[in-house]
Amino acid sequence: MGMTYQPPNPLVLYEQATGTQCGTGESAMGPFYCPRDSRVYLDLTFFQELSSRFNAPGDFAQAYVIAHEIGHHVQNLLGASEQVLQAEARAGSRRSANRYSVALELQADCFAGVWAAHAGEVSGGKVALEPGDLDEGLRAAASVGDDTLQKQTRGRVVPDSFTHGSAAQRQHWLQQGYSTGDPKACDTFTEIR
Ligand SMILES: [Zn+2]
Repeated sequence: MGMTYQPPNPLVLYEQATGTQCGTGESAMGPFYCPRDSRVYLDLTFFQELSSRFNAPGDFAQAYVIAHEIGHHVQNLLGASEQVLQAEARAGSRRSANRYSVALELQADCFAGVWAAHAGEVSGGKVALEPGDLDEGLRAAASVGDDTLQKQTRGRVVPDSFTHGSAAQRQHWLQQGYSTGDPKACDTFTEIR
């Protein structure tokens, strides 16, 4: 896209709680990216949960989670995060604000797929996808879909309250990024304009 990539600051592994420029990070929040200090924060117990509670084990399931968060870093560099915050503030209802949030999250999934498509070349061969890896990622994407989580916790699904997208949407956009390898194919926002 003619821009120079600025890497984020090194990822922070923590247990239970940690101070960040975005307030206190807690395990219960799951992994997150803080744009103010340009870092991803991760409590490794999330990976145990992903494997046991969410039934999505595997190294690539974990790689997808980190790549999704770095996707938010890329959105920060592109200015997409800021535009979404403004659009959410202008949105007349919680429901339409949520649609922007979903588009932003699905784009981060798509960027994770773009990374996976290029992981071998950008790492000089240190990272290589093996057979079954993409399936691990797709299983993880489905397991953190809003409908999957709502079914588990509330017993019913309320699509208007989605903030990250359904299992099917998350799988679709991860796959889209992976099969195209092109960030331009990650325009998740056209559907809500
Ligand atoms: Zn996210």
